[in-house]
Amino acid sequence: MDGNIRKHMSRVYNFSAGPAALPIEVLQQAQAEMLDWHGSGMSVMEMSHRGKDYMSIAAKAEADLRQLMAIPANYKVLFLQGGASSQFSMVPINLLDTKKKADYLLTGQWSKKAVAEAKRYCEVNVVADTSSSNFTTVPDESSLGFDAEAAYVHYTPNETIVGVEFPYIPDTGDVPLAVDMSSNILSRQLDVSRFGVIYAGAQKNIGPAGLTIVIIREDLIGHADPAMPVMFDYKTHADNDSMYNTPPTYSWYVAGLVFDWLLKQGGIAAMEATNKRKAEKLYKAIDDSDFYSNPVARNCRSWMNVPFILANAELDAAFLQQAAANGLHTLKGHRSVGGMRASIYNAMPETGIDALIEFMKEFERTQA
Ligand SMILES: *Cc1c(COP(=O)(O)O)cnc(C)c1O
Repeated sequence: MDGNIRKHMSRVYNFSAGPAALPIEVLQQAQAEMLDWHGSGMSVMEMSHRGKDYMSIAAKAEADLRQLMAIPANYKVLFLQGGASSQFSMVPINLLDTKKKADYLLTGQWSKKAVAEAKRYCEVNVVADTSSSNFTTVPDESSLGFDAEAAYVHYTPNETIVGVEFPYIPDTGDVPLAVDMSSNILSRQLDVSRFGVIYAGAQKNIGPAGLTIVIIREDLIGHADPAMPVMFDYKTHADNDSMYNTPPTYSWYVAGLVFDWLLKQGGIAAMEATNKRKAEKLYKAIDDSDFYSNPVARNCRSWMNVPFILANAELDAAFLQQAAANGLHTLKGHRSVGGMRASIYNAMPETGIDALIEFMKEFERTQA
């Protein structure tokens, strides 16, 4: 699955957190179909979203995603816009119904934003807050006490910035679980039935920016506050197969190419095995050295976003510059954390991890 990246010497290993690398096979297929999609004489970008051709593209993408994630029949899949950030509002607007409060786990910068937005709509009960560890931990599962009267529980299974990933799914009983899976959707197998709403911006592990995917249990649709904009009501989109207005057609199409590619790789079980191996070898290289370190507790290190810092931060600029010269790009850490961050989503081939590790060892050898 390393693609034929070596045949495209101008291509680099791109460790961007998002928008992120796409599989080269997907880009090549989009390129081949750019001017004339399947004999239609037009680009997918130029098609009516209500035409037969585009409807078939949209339907296949949804069917493939349903197959990949084994999405149960009583869940709708919505292809929306507005990013994960819009879901920070759509979740409370739609899930509160007659209730007035919701439970949130605060485990990083993204859940912090979700909490701030929810406070505009309801009373937010922060059930766990890991800020005292600089967000390098997740709460103990046994420490979580949820409010049975809460409309829903929200958390962020993978915090993209610090690289913290929950090793468990919180048990919230009958209270629906709403999750921001922007940076770890499709990275490992998942029991969708544990969740009420799963949402993700596409630009990390799905496809191009501009598309936001929402997977929602049907009984949670139809309870939006009627004073809110119609575009923020899940029912508007569910009733219209995500075509109430013009959807992000091209991003939806490319996401469909990614789903097809994932199925050809062996589906999510195969990706899970590869992702585990990729992450473990990178963490091992970091842990085996005194030159690099990762601050995250070992039980919750992300498989997708791997931050690491150099013992001497004065070498950061040289590291980034030499890495880029070796074809390893976008490794600069988030401004709030510093150091480096390697985002290693599904489209990052294992050869990219190997090349990064080799470079890190060489840099350490020449600088230490
Ligand atoms: C990137 C990211 C977001 C922001 O997504 P947008 O689509 O830009 O709104 C939200 N949550 C998580 C976990 C992310 O990684």
